[in-house]
Parts: sequence; C-alpha cells; structure tokens
Amino acid sequence: MAKILIIGAGVSGLSAGIYARLNGHDATICEKHFNAGGNLTGWQRGEYHVDNCIHWLTGTNPATQDYKTWCDLGALGSVNVYQGETLYTFEQDGLRLSLNKDLEVIKEDMLNASPLDEKEIKAFISAVKTVQGIMGIAGKNHDKKSGVAAKLTALPTLIKYNGITTGELALKFYSPLIQNFITSLMGEEFSAMALIVVFATFCGENGGIPEGSSVGMAKRMENRFKELGGKLYLKKEAVNIKYENGVATQVEFSDNTTLPADYIVIATDPEIAYHKLLKQPMPKQLTQYYAQNTRFSSYQCAFACDKSELPFSADFIFEIPKKYKAKLRTKNLIIREFSHEKSFAPKGKNIIQTLTFCSEKDARDFIKLRKDKEKYEEKKGKIAQLIVEIIEDKFPTLKGKLTLLDVWTPATYNRYTGAETGSFMGFILPAKTIPHTLDNKVKNLNNVILATQWLQSPGGLPIAAKVGKAAIETINKKEKALQRA
Ligand SMILES: Cc1cc2nc3c(=O)[nH]c(=O)nc-3n(C[C@H](O)[C@H](O)[C@H](O)COP(=O)(O)OP(=O)(O)OC[C@H]3O[C@@H](n4cnc5c(N)ncnc54)[C@H](O)[C@@H]3O)c2cc1C
Repeated sequence: MAKILIIGAGVSGLSAGIYARLNGHDATICEKHFNAGGNLTGWQRGEYHVDNCIHWLTGTNPATQDYKTWCDLGALGSVNVYQGETLYTFEQDGLRLSLNKDLEVIKEDMLNASPLDEKEIKAFISAVKTVQGIMGIAGKNHDKKSGVAAKLTALPTLIKYNGITTGELALKFYSPLIQNFITSLMGEEFSAMALIVVFATFCGENGGIPEGSSVGMAKRMENRFKELGGKLYLKKEAVNIKYENGVATQVEFSDNTTLPADYIVIATDPEIAYHKLLKQPMPKQLTQYYAQNTRFSSYQCAFACDKSELPFSADFIFEIPKKYKAKLRTKNLIIREFSHEKSFAPKGKNIIQTLTFCSEKDARDFIKLRKDKEKYEEKKGKIAQLIVEIIEDKFPTLKGKLTLLDVWTPATYNRYTGAETGSFMGFILPAKTIPHTLDNKVKNLNNVILATQWLQSPGGLPIAAKVGKAAIETINKKEKALQRA
C-alpha cells in the first residue's frame, strides 16, 4: 500500500483518489477551492441554482465501458438519468434542425431541409452508424461486434471524416441551415470526427444528464471517495513540490503546512503542475500541444424566468443579429433551459443560461481586465445587457421577463480552477489526428504522476475519469516493479 497525495479535487483528482482506495492505497486529496468537483460544479443565486457543466455525460448507457467507470466512481448507478429528445437545436430563418435521439429522425429532417444534399446527408448518417458500430460508445442496441474485417470496412469513412474539420464538413452541404447546424455546437475547428462521435453517443442513449446535474455528480463522487476511506482537505492550495535526487518528498501548501507522500498525483492544469508546483519547463510534447493546438473558453449568463414562457427546450442555438456580432465577437448564441431539474428553480419558474464561446485572446483580455474590478464588473454588465437584447429580439414573448442571476467569464474559471486561459476543456481535437493520451510521467521524477484532462484532446469528463484511473495504474506498476527489485 502506497501513500498517495493528490493535488486537485476535480474529476481527474477524485477519480485518482477513488481508484487509489479501490486498489488499497492510502489516499489524500488537497483542493484549493472550498468544494470538490473543479469544473463539475454549480452554485446558488438566491432560490436558483446555476449549473456550470454537464450538457451531456458520455457513459450514461449501461452497456458501455464508460458507464462501468462512472459506477466505480459513484457518479451513476444510483440516480435517474435524464435523456432528452434532443441534445441541441439550431434555428435559422425560422427553420430548425435538431440532434434528435433518433438518427432516422435527424436524417429525415435534414432531407426535408435540403433534398439537394441527399448524398452527403446519407453519407454523414452512415458515418455516425459506422462509428457507433465500431467504437463501443453506443450501447448494445447499436454497437456491433467489430472484428478486424468490420474495422477495415469502416476505414475509408473514418479517414474521410477524420481528415476534415467541422467547417470543411459543413461546406460539403449546399444548405446554409445544415452548414450552420454542423458548426454551431463545436465551432469550425474541431475534427469532423469529434462531431460524429457526439451524434453517435447521443443517438446511442449514451449522453444523458444524471439527476442533480453537475453538483449532484461531484457530490456523489466526493462521498464515494470519503466512504472508501479517502481524506479530502478543502481550501488547501499546493504551492510547491519539494524534491531531491529524483524523488519528490513532500508538498508545501499556502497555509505553510507540508504533507509527505510516496507518490504525488498532480490533477491540475499542466501550467500549474509544471510552472508553479514543479518549477520546471513543460515537456517538449506538451509544449508543442500548447503551441499548435487551440483552446477555447466562454462567457455565460444565467437568468430566472417563468416556466411557461420558453419557446424552446434543451440546448438551443441561433445566429445572433449582425449588429451584435462585432460587440460580442461571436456568431452564435447557445441557450439552455433547465426544466429537467425541478429543484433548480422555485415552482413555476425556470432558469435559462447562455453560453458564448470566446477565443484564447478574448479569454486573456477578460483575465487581464479582472485586475480592475470596476471595469470588469462594468463589462459583465454590458454583456448581460446585450444578451438580454439578443434574447428579447429573438423571442419577443420574453421581453421584460428575464431576471439576471449571474455572469461569469474565463476570468472566473482562471480564478477557480487555475486554468491558464480559463479554458475548461482540453485542446481542440484538430483534423487528421488520432486522439492519444500523452505520457502521465514527469521526467526525472519517478514518483510524480499527472492526471488531467489535458493529457488527451478534447478533454471532458470521461477523459478526466480515465486519466485519474490511469495514474493509479501507473503507480501500481511502479509498486510491482519495486517489489520485484
Ligand atoms: C461550461 C462547461 C460545460 C462543460 N460541459 C461538459 C459536458 O457537457 N460534458 C463533458 O464531458 N465535459 C464538459 N465540460 C468539461 C468538464 O467540466 C472538464 O473536462 C472536467 O471537469 C475537467 O476535470 P479536471 O479534473 O481534469 O480539471 P478541473 O476541473 O480544472 O480540476 C482541477 C482542480 O484542481 C484544483 N487546483 C488547481 N490548482 C491547485 C492547487 N495549486 N492546489 C490544490 N488544488 C488545485 C482546482 O481548483 C480544480 O478543482 C464542461 C465544462 C464547462 C466549464
């Protein structure tokens, strides 16, 4: 049994902690924030709950491997999962297209929207089915036994869609509605394969929302860790890792305390891991990832409103009018409503949240601006005002009916999780790359392991769970090697 100290109680850190205990190790997690969960979080604003994270959780289909992992982690298994009719709907000029849970409905809707695009629509739908068949992400009703022959047959499809971005995929269609439906969820830079995986997952009933959403899931994971005998320290910020002769000996905290450990798992953003805690340059491969791959963040607003007033459900995306585009430096607005979470708002009320993606540069500007609290608050106020105007413009029935609950930005993420540009997913998965996991070992330090979503693009909750588990598997191997020596 090894004594493992984990820095960071996001999903990666909680996963490392739970798997450490399941493997019989002594596990302690130290988290700088006042609660566990990292980005998997939410907060109260009066009688309303603002949810920060789960739009879809890959792994809610019990026939998948991810589901088993979530059950190990206490995240699923004991709660209801909400599986909506649609994941998102895009609207343009009064016409709508949705990522419906039934792939045949999507096909019909796309064909009705643009008969001219029949060939490309059928190819796209067939690609989604191919991915469901070979990847094990769509549960027993969709996944087929995929031997070598099936994989070889699927190869041309995989190559075609892996080789282009979502923006390039969109241009294969004549219909502007389909083009924007394709790019509206993830933007134009992701590999088209990433979008196909999202379709394959949701249509495989494998992308639901567990009851209680983000905070509910974080709490269940925290409880699981504690019930297994793990120790969790909150408001405990690691500031330095002491090491000598290739061995890390202890972690120093901002409250001037130290904790010793046989192994240290760093479950934070790599910038914090290398530049703050280890005080050494990032390895070449990770440096290249930072230089070559894009990251994104977002700013968001939450509003209270009456339940009866909403002219959309689930996630709804639309192109914002030209006059607002330059001011918000974005093309689309994503709005969500939370009628599936009855406890998030008082009876008869609902919450809507808007999400606007922003570039790394804009994210850095937010972070810089926050140093001047007054100007930062002023900017947030202006954003909220513009967002209200856009929503009222789009849905006149909501005029005067929205009450602002909160505005949060990349500076919020930077402050709470420490992510350098406030980014909350990993690197954007570019075209022509096959997702692979970066090495979790730290050069010249045998007992320090990384566990962060940044080890595999595009990050997200299942990757965070996976890297936490992998950190403990690495430690197990090291322990076995020590016993043999
Ligand atoms: C708006 C939004 C929507 C999202 N939607 C989805 C979705 O629908 N599906 C999905 O799969 N994913 C989604 N994600 C992404 C998901 O939240 C992340 O991929 C995941 O939470 C990352 O987990 P992590 O543990 O690797 O990192 P983090 O969540 O960043 O956790 C790192 C932890 O380390 C702590 N820490 C940092 N420095 C220190 C220190 N020095 N000492 C101690 N502790 C420290 C931080 O406080 C934090 O708790 C979304 C995220 C956001 C913000």
